[in-house]
Amino acid sequence: EAEYTTALDVFDAAVAAEPDSPFLYYFDATLTFADVDRAATALASALVGDGFSAGDRLAVYVQNNPAFIIGIVAAWKAGGIAVAINPMNKQRELTYMLVDSGATALLTLDDLYDDVAAPVIATGKTAVRTVFTTSPLDFQTRDDPRLFAGVERRRNPGTRDLVETIDGFDGSSLPAPTLTADDVAVLTYTSGTTGEPKGAMNTHGNLAFNAQTYRDWTGLKPGEGVLGVAPLFHITGLVGHVMIAMLVRAPLTLTHRFAPDVTLDAIRERRPVFTVAAITAFNALSAAPGATPADFESLRILYSGGAPIAPAMADRLEQDFGAYIHNIYGLTETSSPSHGVPLGVRAPVDATSGALSVGVPVFNTVVRVVGEDGEDLPVGEVGEFVTSGPQVVKGYWNKPDKTAESIPGGALKTGDVGFMDSDGWFYVVDRKKDMINASGYKVWPREVEDVLYTHPAVREAAVIGVPDEYRGETVKAYVSLQDGATVDTAELVEFCKEQMAAYKYPREVEIVCELPKTVTGKILRRELRDAG
Ligand code: ATP
Repeated sequence: EAEYTTALDVFDAAVAAEPDSPFLYYFDATLTFADVDRAATALASALVGDGFSAGDRLAVYVQNNPAFIIGIVAAWKAGGIAVAINPMNKQRELTYMLVDSGATALLTLDDLYDDVAAPVIATGKTAVRTVFTTSPLDFQTRDDPRLFAGVERRRNPGTRDLVETIDGFDGSSLPAPTLTADDVAVLTYTSGTTGEPKGAMNTHGNLAFNAQTYRDWTGLKPGEGVLGVAPLFHITGLVGHVMIAMLVRAPLTLTHRFAPDVTLDAIRERRPVFTVAAITAFNALSAAPGATPADFESLRILYSGGAPIAPAMADRLEQDFGAYIHNIYGLTETSSPSHGVPLGVRAPVDATSGALSVGVPVFNTVVRVVGEDGEDLPVGEVGEFVTSGPQVVKGYWNKPDKTAESIPGGALKTGDVGFMDSDGWFYVVDRKKDMINASGYKVWPREVEDVLYTHPAVREAAVIGVPDEYRGETVKAYVSLQDGATVDTAELVEFCKEQMAAYKYPREVEIVCELPKTVTGKILRRELRDAG
């Protein structure tokens, strides 16, 4: 019942049906589906001319720039695989990903090339032999001093210029690649919180399937805009922004990177209807200087995923945005969603744990809740989620052992613990490895955070376990405060103490300006643990 076999089919169908419809907005530039098709065909031809062939890897190391999409589509047109690389990565991480993926070609921005990629390639450790570069100022006519102060258009010796490659393209067609649903479309690297990063193999079938999931849940219609907030190299951006825009034929607004003031201007100008992002991004947008509810009027379809949503924060943001924010849950290994809340439905909050439901499993997806010995647990009992479905990746690149360990028989051990209620709603209690063991009691940080979010002064909260001589671990909370708010840490401790069992409430609260986050907006408890 898949409408499309490959991610490239999704793109090709849009080009055939709506060549002149806008696909990408990037500042004041508009690229139609035909524009992106031509650019990607030009890049693919150049790659093939350089010996790139079926199954080869093109690393795409750029910000939220049209070049990202041109790059991944070009890799597919050439029959190859795109490697999506976080543009925040420095030499050590880039070296790892280029060597691990065995990429022979690289597409990057001038400044990233000069500062990071060129020295990496010069070491001779990678297989990269063709480099294309472009400037963040290409594909737009107006730059934004808030993002591009001091950025110049450069020519990097030893690299091929992407814009010149496109301009000089003779328009000849490429032989169609022979891609199947089972072929790998993109390698997306896990952040490596547990050992070295692993390249999740998101297949064409995975991407085409979850593009449909997003469309079916959100009900997005052709021409309604998608706001790019999540980074495109991450699975949420790749599927929840790029793939849905291709499938629905809806224009995607890109702002190079997420900066609340710049993104707010883009919303005012392009009036997008849908976005999906980490809840912290919604929080940052609503707090952007000058933001008013009227600014968010066009954004009627809102989804948040990638991290837990505290019910109190969801309520506050619903006021700010004038729209309900639907929860969506998944991992890189499930190619974005495995669960979600259909549009217009309000997810329940569990009375005991206080958790907001992450929704119900995606169509054709089976999620088991299993105990320590892998046995199926009854309704309401907490265990690990094990997910099977058309969106689960076929493994980790070059890591058969890790694949066998985490995805035995195609069923993904998510590392998340939670339960299902009698109506079939799922709740994530927390990540298995973030559990705190205080005097032998299990404390789940999310539950304590949810309570902190109900305090009017609290903007964001993160809870971790810290070593303790008597209890083994004790609960510690870090919070940032709402603009202009003040509060005593003892008051916050007391506030929690009144609302939860003695072993759970934080013995210590520390106020910080900003909590550490990933580029995807996920609050990094790990970094707080390491710093402590
Ligand atoms: P790594 O796996 O390397 O630690 P990561 O945590 O950034 O990296 P992702 O695949 O980006 O990996 O994140 C998936 C995790 O995010 C899930 O396992 C889950 O813990 C959390 N998550 C995602 N969506 C939700 C949600 N709606 N509610 C609660 N948690 C969520």
